[in-house]
Amino acid sequence: MLGRKRPEPEVDNSDEAFSPQAARAGAALRLTVSFMLVVVVAFLAVEGWRTWRDYRAAFAAAHDSVTNLARATAQHAEDTIRQVDVVTAALSERVEGDGLQNIDIPRIHKLLVQQSAIMPQLHGLFIYGPDGQWLVTDKEVIPEMPNNADRDYFQYHRTHEDRNVRIGEVIRSRSTNDLIIPISRRLNNPDGSFAGVLLGTVKVSYFVDYYGDFKIDDKGALVLATRSGTILVRRPFFASVVGKSLVNSVIFKNFLPTSNQGVAEARAVIDDTERLYGYRALTTYPLVVEAGLSRESIIAPWRRDLFKTGLVLIFLIAILVGFGLIVLSQLRYRMSMEKQIRSAHQTMRDMALTDSLTGLGNRRRLDSALAEALRLAKRQGSSLAMIMLDVDYFKRFNDKYGHAAGDDCLRAIAVAVQKTIKRPGDLAVRYGGEELTVLLPNTDNAGAAQVAQAILEGIRALGIEHGDHPLGLVTASAGVATCQPAIEDVTPAMLIKAADAFLYLAKNTGRNRWCSAATVPA
Ligand code: GH3
Ligand code: MG
Ligand code: MG
Repeated sequence: MLGRKRPEPEVDNSDEAFSPQAARAGAALRLTVSFMLVVVVAFLAVEGWRTWRDYRAAFAAAHDSVTNLARATAQHAEDTIRQVDVVTAALSERVEGDGLQNIDIPRIHKLLVQQSAIMPQLHGLFIYGPDGQWLVTDKEVIPEMPNNADRDYFQYHRTHEDRNVRIGEVIRSRSTNDLIIPISRRLNNPDGSFAGVLLGTVKVSYFVDYYGDFKIDDKGALVLATRSGTILVRRPFFASVVGKSLVNSVIFKNFLPTSNQGVAEARAVIDDTERLYGYRALTTYPLVVEAGLSRESIIAPWRRDLFKTGLVLIFLIAILVGFGLIVLSQLRYRMSMEKQIRSAHQTMRDMALTDSLTGLGNRRRLDSALAEALRLAKRQGSSLAMIMLDVDYFKRFNDKYGHAAGDDCLRAIAVAVQKTIKRPGDLAVRYGGEELTVLLPNTDNAGAAQVAQAILEGIRALGIEHGDHPLGLVTASAGVATCQPAIEDVTPAMLIKAADAFLYLAKNTGRNRWCSAATVPA
């Protein structure tokens, strides 16, 4: 009947922390950062794994190389010595058969020359008598008063009866001054007594040349040593290194006692270089070979590769991070724009619902709040009260004190009203002109009348002078209307109209008072 259609109240989404837009933007931000982190970690993991695999592969390849090198040098040393072993065995058989006293020197010399010529490793072949005197050699010229009784191998054979070939330490030849490895065996008389020594000497340079042919790095090493650890030949070759002892090296101390061949990482005692060594002890002769590649040469190509991939990786990560930062800054920019837009919307909404003079809500605010309050009261079965206020003789006040003073008065009244209402759900708005409306949810008529009384007292207590008022100060009148939406069908307009009617009654019955249904006889 009196009801006017009101728009649905708007849902207020002003709380930014919980706004779905802010949550979505935050999620996008987290997603971007997580994606970047995942990609960077994946890059690093893949490259790290690849680098580790290459490192292992480099060492595996070096392991094979040193094993093969040790195998080849061991075979070579064995073949070289064996040939001398075989030749001296045949010669000793012959010389002993003839008897050293009956030795046919020119014939044996010719034989020695022949044998020596077909064996490139041989430096010489020598036969010494029991006193160390040179009897026959493959050399054309025999040094004057030659006697080798002082040599280590000679003294050994004179005092040891074993007939095996003996490999001595490197010595310098008396005939040619070359470094040589003496390979000797004892000669016996038919009665088993010492008859002399048969000696084949192997050129150290023969091994040096052979070792020099291998393609290994500058810091690589090839070593031929006696089983007791004395160096015979070494690449790189210095005369001073010959005869040095390897007894205290890691391989001789820790590895050879348990295994005749293998691979070990060790720091060289000779030149303090870290190498991966393949070592092998010969089975037929008391010799050991070692083939080592420097750690530096093994990992250098790997390190170069690592450096290159590292650069590419850093470049890729930099691009990714740069790209990510751009995306992040754009996201942040969008988020801040959205925030600004949201807060601008909020400000506009607030402005649209606020009265600019008093700071209270305006008529529009009342419209939405009233409809909502009615709905809530209906659902909860509670009562809803409305107080309609109107300043008394306000036209006169304006006329007497001016419009600006009227505005100040209205502002002071608004503050007084706002101060009086205490509950969070209570709402005071400026309905228009010098009329204010107070909405009191969940309040019955008696309660609302009390509030109305308190408001009127509050306004009077302001003590604003009003010369054209019978009381001499600003007062207001109020109409109080209460409804029970759950019981009766009430529209916003009906409640406003009822409050307005009681206000009209208050005005007509003397002003500076409130009226409600209770004050009017039914
Ligand atoms: P009554 O006691 O019957 O209410 O008398 P009244 O003069 O207050 O009533 P009336 O409705 O005739 O006059 C209302 C006056 O309120 C008119 C205008 O001068 C004043 N008024 C309305 N809005 C404003 C405003 O925003 N500022 C100022 N200063 N005065 C206003
Ligand atoms: Mg009025
Ligand atoms: Mg008035």
